[in-house]
Amino acid sequence: MSTLENLLREDRTFPPPPEFAANSVVPEDVYEKAQADPDGYWLEQARTYVSWFKEPTVALDDSNPPFFKWFADGELNVTHNCVDRHLPEHAGKIAYHWVGEPGDTRTITYGDLGVAVNRMANALKGLGLEKGDRVAIYMGMVPELPIAMLACAKLGLVHSVVFGGFSSDALASRILDAHARVLITQDGAWRGGNIVPLKANADRALQQTPEIEKVIVLQRTDHGVEMTEGRDIWWHEFVEGQSDECEAVPMNAEDPLYILYTSGTTGKPKGIVHTQGGYLTAITATHQQVFDLKPDTDVYWCAADIGWVTGHSYIVYGPLANRTTSVIYEGAPNFPDYDRLWQIIDDYGVTIFYTAPTAIRAFMRWGEEYPAKHEMSTLRLLGTVGEPINPEAWIWYHLNIGRERCPVVDTWWQTETGAIMISPLPGLVETKPGSATFPLPGVFADVVNDDGESVPLGGGGYLVLTRPTPSMARTIYGDDDRFVDTYWSRFPGRYFPGDGAKRDEDGYFWLLGRVDDIMLVSGHNISTTEVESALVSHPSVAEAAVVGRKDDLTGQAIAAFVTLKADVTGDEELLSELREHVASTLGPIAKPKSIVFTNDLPKTRSGKIMRRLLRDISENRQLGDVTTLANAEIVAEIAEMAQVTTED
Ligand code: ATP
Ligand code: MG
Repeated sequence: MSTLENLLREDRTFPPPPEFAANSVVPEDVYEKAQADPDGYWLEQARTYVSWFKEPTVALDDSNPPFFKWFADGELNVTHNCVDRHLPEHAGKIAYHWVGEPGDTRTITYGDLGVAVNRMANALKGLGLEKGDRVAIYMGMVPELPIAMLACAKLGLVHSVVFGGFSSDALASRILDAHARVLITQDGAWRGGNIVPLKANADRALQQTPEIEKVIVLQRTDHGVEMTEGRDIWWHEFVEGQSDECEAVPMNAEDPLYILYTSGTTGKPKGIVHTQGGYLTAITATHQQVFDLKPDTDVYWCAADIGWVTGHSYIVYGPLANRTTSVIYEGAPNFPDYDRLWQIIDDYGVTIFYTAPTAIRAFMRWGEEYPAKHEMSTLRLLGTVGEPINPEAWIWYHLNIGRERCPVVDTWWQTETGAIMISPLPGLVETKPGSATFPLPGVFADVVNDDGESVPLGGGGYLVLTRPTPSMARTIYGDDDRFVDTYWSRFPGRYFPGDGAKRDEDGYFWLLGRVDDIMLVSGHNISTTEVESALVSHPSVAEAAVVGRKDDLTGQAIAAFVTLKADVTGDEELLSELREHVASTLGPIAKPKSIVFTNDLPKTRSGKIMRRLLRDISENRQLGDVTTLANAEIVAEIAEMAQVTTED
C-alpha cells in the first residue's frame, strides 16, 4: 500500500504528537469542566483572556431570547486589550511581519502599532465622530487596515470592513446598509502583479452613498488617483501632527464592535453585528487553545484576508490580544511563482499556518514540487477553515506542508459565530481527515432531524448549537426579524447555522455542507460534500462541485462539475471511470448522472464554491444574486458546456 492509500484508510486517526500532548495549553479535564458549568467556564475565560476596566460578574443573560447577552455588566476596550496593555513592556515585540507583493517588507512592533493607532484615533475624533457611528473600510492587506480597525475600536466607532476584492456596487450596498459616515480606503493594492484600483472603485461607489462625509486615502502604489476637494484626504496628511496619546473609551461588553457582511455564498449577504466582551473572550481563548499558541516563540500566519471574519478574529483581534507575532502578506499566493507562501514561511520561520480548503486544492493542482523546494522546518501546526475539507486535501496538506509532523486543526465556524466552534484541541484530540472532530469546551452542538430530534451517533441531519456562546452574532444590522427568521426559527430555542452534519460512532462531527445543497435522490439524502470528496479522491481530479437538479424519475439527479489536474484531458472513458469511482466509494445511488469537465468553478471572492449558481445552470434558470461571485466568465462557459454534456 502506498503512503497515501495507507493514510487515507477510513479508520486512520492521528493522535496528538507527544510534544503537543505534553505541553497542551488546556488541561485535560477542560471538556468535563465546561460541560458541568458552562457559565463558570466562560466567566473564567473572560477573566483569563481579557483585561476589563470593570470585571463582569455574570456570564449569560438569556432573559430575552434569542437576543442573548454576555458579561453584560463588564466594561472594557478591545484596542486596550490588543495594544495598550502590552505597552510599554513589550513595545519592541513584533506584532506583524508585513510582506508586500512586489517584495517590499515592513516590521510593525507593538510600540509602532500603539503610536499609529493613537494618531489615527485622534484624527478620527477630529471629524466629530461619536461612539456608535459607523466607519466603512475598503482596503487591501496593508498594516494600516488593522490600524484603522483598532483606531475605530479605541473610540467605540463601529467599523464595517468590506473586502478589497469587491466591486463598487458591493461596496456601495454595504455602506448604505450600515449608514457609514466615513470611508477609509487606499489608492490601490497589489494583486497578481497588478494594481487593484480601490480608490477608483470607491469613487464609483460614493456616487450612490450620500451619507459619506469624509474619505481617508492611504497611499500605497503611487499610481495616481483623483482626490475630491473637501471630501478626500490622504491618510498621511490626516494623521499629521496628531498626538501619540489617546485614551481608550470604556465600552460596555454588549456595545457593538463591528458589522461584517457574510460571504454571500447562499444569497444576499447579512450584516452581522458583533459586540465587545464576549467576542474578545472567545476569539482570544480559541486563538490560543486551538492553535496551541505560545506567544513568546510562535510566528503565526493566518493567510486569509482581513476582509473576512477569519481575518477579523484570527489576524487582528485574537492574535493581537494574545500578543502574537504574525505574518501578513499583501498579494497573490502564486506571484511571482507558485511557491511564494512557502518562501515566506521559511523567511520568517512561521510555526503555525492557517488557510482554506480552496487554497489547499489550488496548491495540490500546482503540484507538490513547489512546497518541496522549501525547508519549512519551523512549521508545527496547520489549520483550515471555510469549507468542508476533502480527506484527500487534508492528507495532502499533512504530507506536503506539515511533513507528517504537524497536527491539522479543521475549524468549523461562521461569520455569525465570530469564533471557532467545532475543532480539535491539538494536545488533546485525535483527528480524522475530513472531520472537524468535537465542539470546543463551552460549545454545545447536536445533529437533529426535521422534527428537531437528536439523531443517534452514526446518523446525519442538521447541525444546531444548543446553547448560546459569547461570540455569537447579536443581530443582523437593522433587521432583527431576519436574524430571528434565519437562525432561530427552524428549531426553536436552538441556533441553526444552515449546515448539515453527521456524527460517526465515536461522536466525531463531519460537516456535510449547506443544507440548501443537500440532495434528495430517490428518497435518499446525499451530501454534496461526500460526493465531491469521492470525486477528488480520484487521481485525475483537482476539484469538484456537485448539485442536485430536478429529475422526473428520481426527484433530484446528481450533476457534477469537475476540474481535472493539469496534465489530464476529460473524455468519455474518464467520465465513466469517475462515475464508477463514486459508485464504488459511496454506493451506486451517489453516482453522478451527468459530469461536466470545466476549467474552473464559480466561486465567491473568498474562494468558496457557489453551488446555487450551478443548480441554476443545471435547471436552466436565471442566475440568482451574483454580486459576490469572483469569476463571472466561468459561469457562461459552464452553462454552455452543461447543455452538451453526456448523460445516461
Ligand atoms: P453566506 O452566509 O452569505 O451564504 P458563507 O456562509 O459562505 O456566506 P461565511 O460566514 O464566511 O459565509 O462562511 C461560513 C460557512 O462556511 C459555514 O456555515 C460553513 O458552511 C462553511 N465552513 C466554514 N468552515 C468550515 C469547516 N471547517 N468545515 C465545513 N464547513 C465550513
Ligand atoms: Mg453562511
